[in-house]
Formats: sequence, C-alpha cells, structure tokens
Amino acid sequence: MTDHEPAPVFLAVSPALQDRALEALGRQTEMMACFSWHFGPYPFDRYTAVVTDDVLEIPLEAASLSIFGSNHLTGSWAAERLVAHELAHQWFGNALTLRRWQDIWLHEGFACYSEWLWGAESGHGTLASLARTAWRGLALKAKDLVVADPGPELMFDDRIYKRGALTLFALNRAVGDEVFTDLIRSWVAEHRHSSVDTGMFLDHADRQAEAAGHPAGHARAVMLPWLCEPALPAFPTSR
Ligand SMILES: [Zn+2]
Repeated sequence: MTDHEPAPVFLAVSPALQDRALEALGRQTEMMACFSWHFGPYPFDRYTAVVTDDVLEIPLEAASLSIFGSNHLTGSWAAERLVAHELAHQWFGNALTLRRWQDIWLHEGFACYSEWLWGAESGHGTLASLARTAWRGLALKAKDLVVADPGPELMFDDRIYKRGALTLFALNRAVGDEVFTDLIRSWVAEHRHSSVDTGMFLDHADRQAEAAGHPAGHARAVMLPWLCEPALPAFPTSR
C-alpha cells in the first residue's frame, strides 16, 4: 500500500445488527480521509470495527481495531463522535504511544480534538463552537486537576479529554491553522510507532512555531496554563 491509497475498513458484526452497523459506522472511510489530511497517512494497513451483540459502557480500541457495543449504533452525534474518537486513537495512542501514564492527554486530548475536527467536517458545528461548548462545560466543573499529571484516580476524567483538546485548540488559535496542521503532521511523522511524552510535544511545538516566525517559547507559553495549572484559562481567541 502506498501512502495515497486509503486503508481498507472492515466490519465484524452479527447478521441481526448488520444494517444498523452499516448505517452507524458507514462514515469511517470519510473520517479516515479527514484524519489522514490533518495528521498524515493512516498508520496501519487496515482498520476493523467489531460490533458486539452486548451493550458496552464505552467503546474499546487497540492497534488497527475498535470494538463497539450494539448500543453505539444509534447514529446520533453522541455516538458518531465516539466512532471518530476511536479511529483517531490509531494515530494518537497506537502509532504514537505515551511513555508515561501522566501524559494520557496525548491520547485522549488529541482524540477529543479529532472529534471536533470530524464534527466540523460533517456539519455538527465549527471547530470553535465545539471547543466553546467544551470550555463552557469545564467552566462549571471543579478546577482541581492538572492535565499533565492527573494522578491515577483522575487519569480518565472527562476534564482530561476536554482540556487536552482545548490545549490543542489554544495552540491552533495562537499559531494559525496552517502552522498548526504542519506541526501535528510532523509530530506524527517523526514519532510514528514510537513512544512520546508531554515534554517532547512542547519542544516540537516550540521548534515548529519558531521556524514559522513565532517568538521562541511561544507554543509552550500558550499550552502550559492548560496543561500544568488547575485554573481554567480564558477561552482562546485568534491572534
Ligand atoms: Zn479515548
């Protein structure tokens, strides 16, 4: 397979659920194209969605595979965003894997940001409106969590997902779409199939932003309040 051919997408489902699964999971190829544009080529040679007859509390993913419950076939945006989220983990989680559990936002924040990218692509809002909804939700919650080191109890707290995604949104707003997209693509390309940590991402973003004409340390300065302080920063606006 060359980088220009889409990876094949397979579906494993019982006959009784087949029609619903084809409907609910039918946009995965488009999602893959969307994410391949934003992040670079899909990192595996195939992708398989497995649907269980049982209800699952949450979907699960592993390298080149996601598992959904029969309850995830509603076709609602709430379910579709999970389909996008799990697919995004092929880049952020499976191709680039955290070195330390503290850095879980490198998986979940990126996957949540990917939901917004797909939401914008598929007509469920703009990137900014989806980010703002998440920010408003966070504003109502306790500000007692540090994204870059949440501790084992809060590792999968929803605030990690949303604040992690907002960290990327803030960086996007600070450097602009073009530099941001280049920065994410090169992050994936340079670390594909290896381990990463938060310090590596901050260094990478700083290098890329500085090469694009931003002051030294600009990217890090934008992200650190989101990652390392419990207080919720103001909603990011464009430069
Ligand atoms: Zn996830």
